[in-house]
Amino acid sequence: MSTELQAERVVVIDDDHAMRLSCRQILAKMGFEVDVFDNGADGLDGVARLKPVLVVVDLKMPGIGGMEVVARVHEMDAEAVILVITGYATIGTAVEAMKTGAYDFLPKPFSPDEMRVIVHRGLERRALVREARQLRDDQEQLRRRFVTFVSHQLQSPLSAVHQYLDVLKRLGDTPEAAAQRAQWLDRCLTRTEELQELIRDWLTLSRVEAGNFVRSTEPLDLRGVVAEIPQRYGDRAGASQVALAVDATAEPCPVLADRKALDVLLDNLVVNGIKYNRPGGTLTVTLALHGNEIRLSVADTGIGIPEAQREFLFNEFFRVHSEAASSIPGTGLGLAICKRIAAELGATIEVESREGEGTTFCVALPLVTQSTEAPVAAAAV
Ligand code: ADP
Repeated sequence: MSTELQAERVVVIDDDHAMRLSCRQILAKMGFEVDVFDNGADGLDGVARLKPVLVVVDLKMPGIGGMEVVARVHEMDAEAVILVITGYATIGTAVEAMKTGAYDFLPKPFSPDEMRVIVHRGLERRALVREARQLRDDQEQLRRRFVTFVSHQLQSPLSAVHQYLDVLKRLGDTPEAAAQRAQWLDRCLTRTEELQELIRDWLTLSRVEAGNFVRSTEPLDLRGVVAEIPQRYGDRAGASQVALAVDATAEPCPVLADRKALDVLLDNLVVNGIKYNRPGGTLTVTLALHGNEIRLSVADTGIGIPEAQREFLFNEFFRVHSEAASSIPGTGLGLAICKRIAAELGATIEVESREGEGTTFCVALPLVTQSTEAPVAAAAV
C-alpha cells in the first residue's frame, strides 16, 4: 500500500460490537485511521466531520438503516467508497444499495483478505474517478481561459479603433485636424490589419486541429517550392532591408505534401525570419538531402530566441518575452500552426538559436521514393 493511502481515514458504521472490532483491526492494519460508530445518525455526523475515503456500513441497523446511510453518504461525497456489510439473507438489499451509491458489498462472514481485496479495488476505482474528474476540470479551465484570452485579443484592437473613430467623428476641419485625422486613420488601419491577421491565424489553427487543413497530398519537388521564395517575399524582405538567399541541392527533392499547407508552413517561417531579423541581415532558405529525409531550413541573422523560452515556442499564443521581441507585432499562432502542419505531413520541425545572432528552423520531411510512395501516401491522407 502506498504511503499516501496510509494517512487516509475510514469510517465504520455497525451496531454489532464484534464486527466493529474486527473491521477496525483489519483496516488499521492496512494503515488507515479508523473511526467506528454504532448507529447511523452518529455515523453520518462522523462522515460529515471526518471526510473519510471509505465508509463501511452495516445494512441492518436500528434507527437510520444502512440503505439510508448509503444514500446520504453518497450525497455528501460522491467519490467516497461505500462498502456494505450484509448477511446472506439481505444480499438482494445490498444490490439495491449499490444502485444508491455503494461501491460493493461484503457478505458475512468474511476473511480479512476478502475485505482487503475489496477495499483496495474500491480505492483504486476512486483514484481513477478522481483522476478523470481532474482531467475534465483542467480541460474546462483551459477552455475557459482560452476563450477569455482570445476575446481579450480581439477586444483590445477593436476598442482602440472604436475610440479613434469616436474622436475622428468630432474632429474639426482645420489643417492641424486634417494631419491628425490622417495619422489616426493609419493607426486604425494597422489595428484592423492586426485583427484580420489574428482571425486568419486562429481559423487556420482550428482547421489544422480539426484535421481538415491538409487535404490532398501530391508528389511535388521541394526545389520548385523554394525557388519561388525570392519572388514571393522579395518586396517584403527589401522593405525590412533583409537580403534573401535560396540554396537548394541540385538533386530532386520529392515529397508528398499538400501544397497549400506547405505554403502556409513556409510562409510563417519565412515571414518570421524577415520580421525578427535586423536591417542589413540575411535570410537563407536551404534544401538538402539527408538519408531518407529532406531538410528545409530557414536561417536568419536576427534577434534570436532566449534559451529558457524555446520550449514554449510552438504553444498557441506564445510570444517571446524580451526587449527585442516586444515591439514586433504578431499573433503567437504561426509556429503552433507550423508544428501541426508538419505533424500532418509526417515531418518534424526543430529550432536552433543564439540570442542576438540568429535563428534557424529546420523542417525534415520524409523523402519519397518509388518504394515509399504508396505507404507514405496512405499514411498522409
Ligand atoms: P508571432 O505571430 O508572434 O510571430 P509565432 O508563433 O510565429 O508568432 O512565433 C512565436 C514567437 O516566437 C514570436 O512572438 C517570436 O517572439 C518568436 N520567434 C518566432 N520566429 C522567430 C525568429 N525567426 N527569430 C526570433 N524569434 C522568433
